[in-house]
Amino acid sequence: MTESWASNERSRAVMRGNRSRDTKPELAIRSQLHRDGFRFRVNRRPVPEIQRSADIIFPRERVAVFVDGCFWHGCQHHYVAAKANSDYWSKKIEGNVHRDRATNDALNVRGWEVLRIWEHEDPERAARRIEMAVRAMRPDHTRRGKASVRPPAH
Ligand SMILES: [Zn+2]
Repeated sequence: MTESWASNERSRAVMRGNRSRDTKPELAIRSQLHRDGFRFRVNRRPVPEIQRSADIIFPRERVAVFVDGCFWHGCQHHYVAAKANSDYWSKKIEGNVHRDRATNDALNVRGWEVLRIWEHEDPERAARRIEMAVRAMRPDHTRRGKASVRPPAH
């Protein structure tokens, strides 16, 4: 990959608001979820007033999944600082990381479970993690879960 190609990709991603849709890892995770019988929506805002689309959402269970690109979201293992305009890029990525956290918090306070998956993660393992979170958010599970935390009502 040449430097100019990379910066081209970056500028295009900036115009799209950093979030590229239907990336390979996303598709792999989605087909695994499908195979396991899970139904979901893609590229949707979990909450209308929060201007952030999640890559995969389970509206009934209130689980939002973001598949984060290693470059854009500052993955500890794969984020490599750009050589050209490094100041611009490090601020940009830092801003993304802050915004991710703010999004998580905003969704959490509205009762949503947020899962962040790195694009480098194994899709099958990621799908299992998502499935566990979805099951944990199902009403019957919640009742059982609460019973183990709280003492019986009587
Ligand atoms: Zn990574």
